[in-house]
Amino acid sequence: MTAIHQATSPTTVPPKEPFRVQVTDLTESILNDAVTAVNGVCLSTESADRSANLPYTQAAVLTPIVGKELDLQYTENLPIRPPDKDEVTVKIAWTGICRSDACFSLGPEPGFPSHDHVAGHEGIGIVVQSHDKSLMHRPVAARYIGSTCGFCHYCLKGLIESCLNQTNFPKQHRGTYEQYITVPWSALMPLPDWVFGENSKISPAVYTGALCSGSAALKSLRAANIRPGDVVIISGILGAIRHFAGMMAKRVFQARVIGLDWDWKYQRLPASFAGENIFDIFISACTTPNDQIPWDKFLNSIRRACSELRGTKANDYSLMADTVIANASSTSGFERLDDLVSDGGSIIYVGAPRGECSVKVPLLTLLGRQLRLQGSLMGGPEEVLQVMDWIRSGLIKPEVTDISLPEVSRYLGDSVDFKTFGKVVVRVNGYQ
Ligand SMILES: [Zn+2]
Ligand SMILES: [Zn+2]
Repeated sequence: MTAIHQATSPTTVPPKEPFRVQVTDLTESILNDAVTAVNGVCLSTESADRSANLPYTQAAVLTPIVGKELDLQYTENLPIRPPDKDEVTVKIAWTGICRSDACFSLGPEPGFPSHDHVAGHEGIGIVVQSHDKSLMHRPVAARYIGSTCGFCHYCLKGLIESCLNQTNFPKQHRGTYEQYITVPWSALMPLPDWVFGENSKISPAVYTGALCSGSAALKSLRAANIRPGDVVIISGILGAIRHFAGMMAKRVFQARVIGLDWDWKYQRLPASFAGENIFDIFISACTTPNDQIPWDKFLNSIRRACSELRGTKANDYSLMADTVIANASSTSGFERLDDLVSDGGSIIYVGAPRGECSVKVPLLTLLGRQLRLQGSLMGGPEEVLQVMDWIRSGLIKPEVTDISLPEVSRYLGDSVDFKTFGKVVVRVNGYQ
């Protein structure tokens, strides 16, 4: 079974007892919801009355007034709205902690709510109320991209992240840091039944990581056209997206992986973190790329690692990596990445620090060495389901830390500073 780390650090808001809920218990509770749903809480098409099993208020993490500072507050008094026609109410089982949610909770950015904003865009759960009986007890996901039009220029190109008519969690739809969401059915992604399978040895918490981080990682690897035996450098390898990228590069794409991350972070790696599943060689990131002496030393480490992973003859240090998957907490992590790849190499950007950050590569380098630079976003439902299937088969084993809803504020703050390891997921309905 995939390891789930229990968070041991203190919570920001003391939870009620009993606090911890076993994964199997929660799965059972969700399945019970499904059975209850089948047995008669489906609303008639004429009436949207509240059913007996839907409470009036719920626990949630919200930003009362969206401003320049992160202000996430835990409450147990957020009203629950019964569904209108074409809507359903979903009981959220798990949702992911994603750095983007910190950004969504600041501003407010155009289109986002300015008050009582609930973030969260990586939720999985089960439909517990609907006017359409056929939708009851369906397992679903709420992702950043809710609905797309399917017919605009970008949808037809397969670039759904740029759809001109898209709806988003937590923009037009309230996010998943709450126990129940009421949204149009069309904004949800149906999931296979085995995600909440009664006999599954894998917790639904682990599948949650596929919704955003896992799919974004897969999309970046596909963008790089990785071949078996390639050497791939993944910067920020101990974080959510990049640890998925490392394990998929190794296990699925049969590449050799050099993981980069801050030295201080590597020194604090939890003992249970299975680094061998994620990278072949770890190298501490160079924090001063514009100082020539430490940069040269860093490049020599990369050169030696590439040679070792390729099994080339002794002292042949001519080749660098084939691909760099780039993300970092500071602008320095994006500088001089062209030095890390061999001619014809790819640099794929999957994230950026907040604020101004530019990529600079000399034009003659780009041309003469035929490099490829590409941005890559979160991917679509196909990537999500593919990653879930690899988790189900045991091919990949994400590192998951399991927290409660009152802990969202602190972990989201940590994710801004890239202090979290692997994927952090929230037991939204594991806490009562
Ligand atoms: Zn995300
Ligand atoms: Zn579209």
